[in-house]
Amino acid sequence: MTKADIGLIGLAVMGENLVLNMESHGFTVAVYNRTTAKVDEFVNGRGKDKKFVGCHSIEQLVQSLATPRKVMLMVKAGEVVDHFIDLLVPHLEKGDIIIDGGNSLYTDSDRRVKSLAAKGLLFVGTGVSGGEEGALKGPSIMPGGNPAAWEAVKPIFQGISAKVQPGDQPCCDWVGDGGAGHYVKMVHNGIEYGDMQLISEAYFIMKHYLGLNNQELQDVFTEWNKGELNSYLIEITSDIFGKKEDGEYVVDTILDSAGQKGTGKWTAMNALDLGVPTTLIGESVFARCLSSLKDERVKAAKILPGPNASESYKHFQGDKKQFIEYVKQALFASKLVSYAQGFTMMKAAAKEYGWKLNYGAIALLWRGGCIIRSTFLGKIKEAFDHDANLDNLLTDCWFTEKLQEAQTGWRQVASVSLLTGIPTPAFTSALSYYDGYRCPTLSANLLQAQRDYFGAHTYEKLNGKKGEFFHTNWTGRG
Ligand code: NAP
Repeated sequence: MTKADIGLIGLAVMGENLVLNMESHGFTVAVYNRTTAKVDEFVNGRGKDKKFVGCHSIEQLVQSLATPRKVMLMVKAGEVVDHFIDLLVPHLEKGDIIIDGGNSLYTDSDRRVKSLAAKGLLFVGTGVSGGEEGALKGPSIMPGGNPAAWEAVKPIFQGISAKVQPGDQPCCDWVGDGGAGHYVKMVHNGIEYGDMQLISEAYFIMKHYLGLNNQELQDVFTEWNKGELNSYLIEITSDIFGKKEDGEYVVDTILDSAGQKGTGKWTAMNALDLGVPTTLIGESVFARCLSSLKDERVKAAKILPGPNASESYKHFQGDKKQFIEYVKQALFASKLVSYAQGFTMMKAAAKEYGWKLNYGAIALLWRGGCIIRSTFLGKIKEAFDHDANLDNLLTDCWFTEKLQEAQTGWRQVASVSLLTGIPTPAFTSALSYYDGYRCPTLSANLLQAQRDYFGAHTYEKLNGKKGEFFHTNWTGRG
């Protein structure tokens, strides 16, 4: 009997669609799931008359694979991944490959690469983005781990990944050693949090300050999707504003309390660990946390003074079209800040963890298949082509030009939101970061003086030698 090209454990939303994608590209896939009834259901349902080998045990799965064996896990991240690795290891041979395609923490992948290498096995921790549809039709795939595994998994991964033009370039390439693949996926998800928050703020300010209805909002997002903001998230936002159920716009029936699964939080936590100001992603995570305090917010609305944000449109007297253009500028400029911060963070991580990341290539991996796919990612690639050691994308000439064009709108929108009380934390924090980053002299001299005053933490002098520290006796007491 012909052996399968790859095995997959975990026939949930992602696993099912990924294996259908693999099969449609000519690969034979052996499938297994903890609840084995799902195997039969799949093989006799969506997988009927296709090249699948349904397995009811790990042993059977391993035996059905061609060597070197490749087993991909598409299961709940965390302990479940270790559980399946433990079940697989006794049945595998030297040179076999275990791939984890879930949203695992990069430190877990790093640990798994090392512990499996000690057993002669190869481990790949890969980010897979694009949700259900991406998995089926072509996701963005970000593999990292043991580089010795790449040649064996490359034809399958590049075969099933999204392709972008010109030349059908696959949105999949080797990212780096250890946990690098899952790290890049984590930052991707953090950027996704940022993009979603920014779009939501653009909606909110146009709704409350301009009084736009859902039809008008749909028209604005449809228009924006034709230009520089062209992206999957802008496209689906436009669709969302048009969706009605039982005569009501669905968006207006949804509780304003956001959920999260943790990858944004991991990005923000790692940014703090690395000491990199990834403010926009952090703000986006906190904005979700604040949204989830629905009951408290409803109570606070009756107590705390301030302008009535939701009725500010009643006082609007300006040019609506002009202000919509300002919102577009604020959204685009804040997005540039967000991506610049994400890439700065990856640079810091590469240094800290000893990875050789190719930043231009990473931008290209996200051009198709994934949730943050957009036309502007090509500009990031170009920026790193111009200068591979760029400190911050914002200082690249294309970015600088765009930030120049967006200045008026960005500042107008931030001012309006502060004056009307319409919360736009990501727009305003992006602008604060931008102004801080371009400010040669910050207020931290006073902060250092305070630290030295109460804690003798010492300070460096403005015109002193680098690394030479001083302490002042601030009180004159001995
Ligand atoms: P999921 O809901 O995260 O996981 C379901 C799978 O895990 C099922 O096969 C389930 O088996 C298995 N499982 C759960 N608990 C288990 C346990 N204690 N022991 C053994 N097996 C267990 O599935 P998913 O949404 O398809 O996602 C798979 C992975 O991809 C996750 O890491 C997820 O974060 C990541 N991801 C998801 C998306 C998305 O859009 N959904 C996008 C990108 C990445 P049973 O059927 O027996 O319960």
